[in-house]
Amino acid sequence: MYPKLILQKGRERPVLLGHPWIFSGAVLTEPQASEGDIVAVCDHKQQLLAHGFYSPASQIRCRLFDFSSQTSARFGDDYWKHRILQALALRRPWFDPEHTNAYRLMHAEGDRMPGVIADAYDQTVVVQLLIRGSERLLPILASTLTEAGFKHLYLKQKSITRHIEGLQQESGWLTPPPPIYPITIREHDCLFEVDPVGGQKTGFFLDQRESRWLVGQYSQKRRVLNAFSYTGGFSVYALKGGATSVDSVDSSQPAVDQSQHNAQLNNLQKKHRAITADCFDFLKQSKPGEYDLMILDPPAFAKKASAVPNALRGYKELNLEAMRKISPGGLLFSFSCSQAIDPLLFRKMLFGAAVDARRQVRLLHYLGQPADHPVDIGHPEGEYLKGWLMAVD
Ligand code: SAH
Repeated sequence: MYPKLILQKGRERPVLLGHPWIFSGAVLTEPQASEGDIVAVCDHKQQLLAHGFYSPASQIRCRLFDFSSQTSARFGDDYWKHRILQALALRRPWFDPEHTNAYRLMHAEGDRMPGVIADAYDQTVVVQLLIRGSERLLPILASTLTEAGFKHLYLKQKSITRHIEGLQQESGWLTPPPPIYPITIREHDCLFEVDPVGGQKTGFFLDQRESRWLVGQYSQKRRVLNAFSYTGGFSVYALKGGATSVDSVDSSQPAVDQSQHNAQLNNLQKKHRAITADCFDFLKQSKPGEYDLMILDPPAFAKKASAVPNALRGYKELNLEAMRKISPGGLLFSFSCSQAIDPLLFRKMLFGAAVDARRQVRLLHYLGQPADHPVDIGHPEGEYLKGWLMAVD
């Protein structure tokens, strides 16, 4: 049996309901284990409930990946290989590589692989390992992905949580890099250059794929503002969808340059303007009626619960300004990728902005993360991306 982490009396209920995180306050007895070890989580009567990776310095003390209560369970390479193949199989039926060759292969808790993120960009996979326990899976991950036909693997480690999670791996290529770099990917037949090494996250925001497609459907003859545009994902779809003009605005110069390059890659640069600016300032200075379709896709303003009030003020300021300025009959795509802001709270914020802007706002589409970013039903925190397409009259 694995070392035991024993829960306080009464703290077993979330585990029984399938929540994959044990917070430090729920622990009665710490296991005799080191960072990243697999531990057996037991209730106060020592009944086995689940297994997970131990993070002794983190608030999330243990991340569970197996809820069977068999004391004989062993979690070796075969177990993990099976789980990785399950994750790949889940994506296979509906992915059409002819038109889209970039998607998320593994989505941490959503694939019962805590701390593992893996994004496929054509024949390259970019892996992020967020905890010491998942770092230990690197050899089996690398061999399984290679057997599955991926040719290039890049490990991209985050520095912020390095210390707390006891991470040891450095970022770098695990195989020779692809011969042509940056990688050109296809998404719904739009082309994008992706730079996993220098870019944000793993290089591209795959979670917005379906919303980008929807922007394309609504862009015909509209003047479009793509605020927080990064490398111009939404912009390319809007241009392809027949927009009259598209302005991409982001504060990162390399991202803005890349957005113009991506417009060129699709031969759509003529109607595209790439602007380096702060989006709050840009919106304030924009003229009423200048845009008929706006996209607001800011970074996560609230990374934890204590930041929620400030984050809500930020979201409201942006949405209020957009609702005030958008032309009558305008379409507003507005998102939040803050895990700490739940869908209802986000919607209430939009309501407040609509009231203050004195515009009639109608909700058209709820926008969330696509199926390659699955959410475990017992882990509401996994549903981080939310958004609405609104008609603003
Ligand atoms: N919509 C993009 C992803 C946006 S990520 C896509 O589909 O690919 C958020 C972006 O906001 C980042 O590119 C970051 O550089 C930018 N950003 C953060 N704060 C900003 C600010 N105050 N003004 C403008 N851009 C900002």
